[in-house]
Formats: sequence, C-alpha cells, structure tokens
Amino acid sequence: MKANLQFYFVVKLSFVPHILKFKRPFSIAHGTRDSTPVVFTRLEQDGIIGYGEAAMPPYLGENHETVLKFLSKAQNFLSEWTPSEQKFSNPIGIVTILSEIDKIENGNTAAKASIDIALHDLVGKIQNKPCHELFGADKQKNIFTSYTIPIDETDGIRKRVKEAREYKILKVKLGSADDKKLMEEIRKHTDKEIFVDINEGWKDKHFALEMIHWLSKRNVLLVEQPMPKEKIDDIAWLTSQSPIPIIADEAVQRFSDLEKAKGVYSGINIKLMKCTGLHEAYKMMLQARKTGMKIMLGCMSESSCGVSAAAQLAPLADWID
Ligand code: MG
Repeated sequence: MKANLQFYFVVKLSFVPHILKFKRPFSIAHGTRDSTPVVFTRLEQDGIIGYGEAAMPPYLGENHETVLKFLSKAQNFLSEWTPSEQKFSNPIGIVTILSEIDKIENGNTAAKASIDIALHDLVGKIQNKPCHELFGADKQKNIFTSYTIPIDETDGIRKRVKEAREYKILKVKLGSADDKKLMEEIRKHTDKEIFVDINEGWKDKHFALEMIHWLSKRNVLLVEQPMPKEKIDDIAWLTSQSPIPIIADEAVQRFSDLEKAKGVYSGINIKLMKCTGLHEAYKMMLQARKTGMKIMLGCMSESSCGVSAAAQLAPLADWID
C-alpha cells in the first residue's frame, strides 16, 4: 500500500521528439513511408522512471507539433495537483489520472497513449510487478506475432518472406493493383498462415467477396478492413457471407466505436496509439469478449517501447500483429 500512496505524489512528465527510420520503405494501400515521427515520454516519481511512446503514422492526424502541444498541457496538469488534494485516490490512481488527461482535449490518442504507457510502466516499477500482472494476463500462454509484408515488387517480397523466417504467421498488405499476383508470389516462397490487411483498399463488395473466397483457399486466416469504413452496409454483408473473420481496424479506434462495429465485423484490431493506451485497450478487450467479437492486438510503427507495452496484453488477444 505504501507504494500506491507514494504514487499520488506528483509525477514529473518530460518528453522528446524523434524520427524512427525504417530499414526499408513501407507501402500499403494508402501510400509509402520510410519513417515515423514519435515522441518518447518519461514520468518520474521519487527517482523511479516510467517510459512511454507516441507513434504518429500520418493518417491518424497527429504529428510532432500536436503531440508536444498536448503533452505540454498534460505536463501543466500533472504538476498542478498536490498530495494534500487527494485528487487521485483510487487504488492505483491510473484510472482517474487517465480520465482527467483524456478530458484535456479531444483526439490526441497517440499523445494520450504515451502518458498511459509511461504510467503503467511507472506503476509496475513502483509495485515491483510486471505490467501484464496488472491486467491478469497469463504470461505462459503461447503467443505468436505476425510479421508484416508490405505491398512490394516481386524481388522485395521474396526478401521480406526470407526475413520473416522466424515468424509462424505473416501479415500481407493487399489492396494493390493486382492482389492475386502478389499473393501468388508470396505463396511461391511460403505456405505459412497469413493475415491479410486491405487498409480499405477494395471498393466493391462483390469483388471483395470473390477475393476473400480466393484467399481463404490459400491459408489466409482473416481479412482486415477490406473496404472503406464508411461502407457499413457493404461490410456487414461481406462479413455475413465470408468464410473467414472480417476484422475492423480503421473503423474502430476507441471504446466508444465498439458499439457500431457489432454486427458489422467479426472482430476488432486494437492498437494502443488509436485507443489512448493500455487502460482503454484492456476495457475494449473485455467488452469485445462480452459481445462475442474476436480480438486482434496490433501496433503502428512504434519502437520496442510502445510494442513492449502492447505485448503486456498479448495473452488476452486471439491474434497478435
Ligand atoms: Mg490494419
């Protein structure tokens, strides 16, 4: 209990922007990137430090400027309360702090996640407990993460499949000009199980269904965000006809989006950068289970800091990406 009480005393937030360079360019249906802007956060309390990260792929609308601005506000907020106020008086304190941080401004999900991740790291260190224990996740469970093969030319695909030799599952980005050619190229090199991610790239539901049937005969386990998220009726139809699960990614960001995914998708892809971090991701997992939806735990292109945080919840998911 002493550790918990200590935690009510002010934590000091600091942060630094950085650019993560990819080994090679990464292409999906939306375009190509060779780096991701990130911001690393540090929460310090009594010499104990928790680390967090915000990763900002361009399509989420955050960047260095927005994250630094939000974190400055959060910094002021965190430094304003005093122990005597007893403002955060629940057993761990995380829930209240995060709900207050969430109210600072709408959006800013990656910036919020960077605080959430650092807070969980800090609390774990203060309590001398691995973070997954805070969520009751069973570390012994076998977890296999997929390795992503972006849209690429023949030679690039061959190299990527080779690089992925240690992985049991691949994730393939489709939604290209010729998806069948791309898949056939991959199948020349491997018969591993595959997740397919379309990133909203297919525009016609009949074409999409034909493709899904074709893919399902090629050891593809699921299809992620086959069509633009606005095409709700088309996607619901697709899910009802599909022989394999259809997973929402772009369509579901936060807990409040779960309701509208029900009956439209078979499952959801939860990412810390979309949903503001571990606390909300866990809540989404519980709710998804309750409504019979499958759970994929994904990531953006964060460093090992953000990915390690997501890994704490991995045993609670059906698929890890
Ligand atoms: Mg996706």
